[in-house]
Amino acid sequence: MAIGIVGGGALGLAAALTLVEAGREVVVLERDTTLGGLAAGFKLGPSYLERFYHHLFGTDTTVLELIRHLGLGERLVWKRPDQSVLSGGRIYSLDSAVDVLRFGALPLPDRVRLGAVLAYLKLERRYQQLDRWTAAEWLARWNGQATYRVLWEPLLRAKFGVHFDRIAMPWIWARIHCRTQALGYLRGGFQALYERLGETIVARGGRVELGKEVSGIAVEPDGAVLVTTTSGDYRFERLLATLPTRLFLRLARGLPREYVDRYAAEGEHFGAHCLVLALERPLLQDVYWLGVNDPGFPFLSIIEHTNYMPPQDYGGRHVVYLGNYLPMDHELFRMDERQVLEAFLPHLARVTPAFKPGWVREAYVFKGPYAQPIVTRGYADRLPPHQTPLPGVLLANMGHVYPQDRGQNYSVALGQRMAKLVLQSTVDS
Ligand SMILES: Cc1cc2nc3c(=O)[nH]c(=O)nc-3n(C[C@H](O)[C@H](O)[C@H](O)COP(=O)(O)OP(=O)(O)OC[C@H]3O[C@@H](n4cnc5c(N)ncnc54)[C@H](O)[C@@H]3O)c2cc1C
Repeated sequence: MAIGIVGGGALGLAAALTLVEAGREVVVLERDTTLGGLAAGFKLGPSYLERFYHHLFGTDTTVLELIRHLGLGERLVWKRPDQSVLSGGRIYSLDSAVDVLRFGALPLPDRVRLGAVLAYLKLERRYQQLDRWTAAEWLARWNGQATYRVLWEPLLRAKFGVHFDRIAMPWIWARIHCRTQALGYLRGGFQALYERLGETIVARGGRVELGKEVSGIAVEPDGAVLVTTTSGDYRFERLLATLPTRLFLRLARGLPREYVDRYAAEGEHFGAHCLVLALERPLLQDVYWLGVNDPGFPFLSIIEHTNYMPPQDYGGRHVVYLGNYLPMDHELFRMDERQVLEAFLPHLARVTPAFKPGWVREAYVFKGPYAQPIVTRGYADRLPPHQTPLPGVLLANMGHVYPQDRGQNYSVALGQRMAKLVLQSTVDS
C-alpha cells in the first residue's frame, strides 16, 4: 500500500518528493485544482502571480536548495526593494539602521532605543527565554510606550486583531532575527516550483490527484488508513495530513474526546484576504511594501509587486496587493469583488492623492482560510504531537513551524522531516 498525503502545498509536496526519492509509493490528495496551497498563483499576462504576496529571505536555505535541486535556480532573483510604513499620513522608509534613525514619527532618543532593540533581537539566539513575555509587554517595556504605540501595536493589531496583546514575543523575534533585507523571488511566479514538484513526484512514480477534497480519515481494523474524498476512497499504509489542526479534528474519526477538546481549543487561525489590482500606472513611488500603521484603512498593507519585479513580466500591468488578516467569519470574506473595490479604492487617494479608480484595469479577490495561526505564549507546548492517536496517521501544519511566522522555507523543511518520520515508522513496524 502507498503512503497518502493530504494537501498539495509546500509541506505536503516536499514530504512527497522526499518519499518518492526514497523509493516509496506516494499519493498526494489536493482539494484545489492547482498545487501550491497558500503560495499558489494565477495567470496574469505571461507570468504567474501569487494570490497572496510572496518572497523569500536569504536565510530560507531549505527552499532555496529545493529550488536548485529541481533545476529552477536560474529563475531566482534577489533585490532590496524598499519597505516602508505609513504613519501620521507620511511614508517613512524603514529599511536600514539609517532609516530607523531618520524615522521622524518618533523623537530621536526613541529612535536610538528602537535601533538598540532591533540590534538585540538580531543578535539574540535564545528565543525560548522570550516566551515568558507577550510581544506587547516586551516591546512596550524595552522600546517605551511611544514607539510601541506608533510602530509595534499597529503591526500586532493588523495581523492579530483583538488578540494583539496576547501574541508571544518569540513570534516578533523570528521576524527580526531570521529575516534579511535582500528578498528573493522566483521569476515567473512560485507556481513554477509547485508545478515542478508535482511533475517530479509523478516522474518518480508518485501520484498527484487534484480536485480531491478529503472528507474523512479513519483507521480500519486491519490497520490500513481509510481516506474518504468527495470522489472515491483510498486505503494507505500511512497518512500524513498537512491540514490545519481544527480541520483535521473535524475530518478524523475515532479520536479520543479529550484529544479533540484539547487541540481544538488551541487551533485558532485568522484568514488572509487580498485584493489584487492590475493598474495602468504605478501607485507608490518606488515602495514595494507599505505597512499601513494609520487608523481607518480597510487594509493593513499595500504591496506594489511591480516595484520589485518589472511590470513587463505581467504584460505591462502595475500589480498592487491590498492585504488583510481577519477572523474567518469577518464580513469581508462574504463580499464580492465589486463590494471590496467600493470599500477599498477611496482609501488609496489618502496614500497617492492622484489615484483615480479609472487606473484599475483588472481586480481579483482571494480568500485564504486558516492562513495565520494565533500564536500566544506557550504555543509550542500546546501544539499537537505529529503522531496522532490514530495509528499510522501523522499531522503537521503551519502551526508546527513556530516561532517562525509561516513561510515556504519552513513548510518545506517540516515536510522533509515528516517524510523521514514516516519512513522511520514504516521501518519500526
Ligand atoms: C498573505 C500571505 C503571505 C505570505 N507571504 C509569504 C512570503 O512572503 N514568503 C513565504 O515563504 N511564505 C509566505 N506565506 C506563507 C506560505 O504561503 C505558507 O507558509 C506555505 O504556503 C504553507 O504551506 P503548507 O503546505 O504548510 O500549507 P498550505 O499552503 O495551506 O497547504 C495545505 C493544502 O491542503 C489543501 N487542503 C485543505 N483542505 C483539504 C481537504 N479537505 N482535502 C484535500 N486537501 C485539502 C489546501 O488546498 C492546501 O493546498 C504567506 C502566506 C500568506 C497567507
